[in-house]
Amino acid sequence: MSKEDKPTFEIKAWHAVATWEYDIDVSTCAICQHSCMEPCIECQGKAGSASRCPLAWGECGHAFHFHCIDQWVKSKPKCPLCMQQWKMKDKE
Ligand SMILES: [Zn+2]
Ligand SMILES: [Zn+2]
Ligand SMILES: [Zn+2]
Repeated sequence: MSKEDKPTFEIKAWHAVATWEYDIDVSTCAICQHSCMEPCIECQGKAGSASRCPLAWGECGHAFHFHCIDQWVKSKPKCPLCMQQWKMKDKE
């Protein structure tokens, strides 16, 4: 029955890679390529505004700087990472 084992292993390996990529995605803003822990590229150039750069979480589970995704959705109303329709997650 080793024929059945092989495809299972391949799926597991693929999943591990996908999980690793997901980790990278949420810690780096895919739009400006800066860390989500730091202000967006626009705010970094403006003294005093760095503390007012919030993160925006989508319902798809991806996060971007609010300023970056705000500009992005004006041209494409889709998440830049997964291409699902962008919907901002409401804060509690
Ligand atoms: Zn950004
Ligand atoms: Zn910003
Ligand atoms: Zn997404």
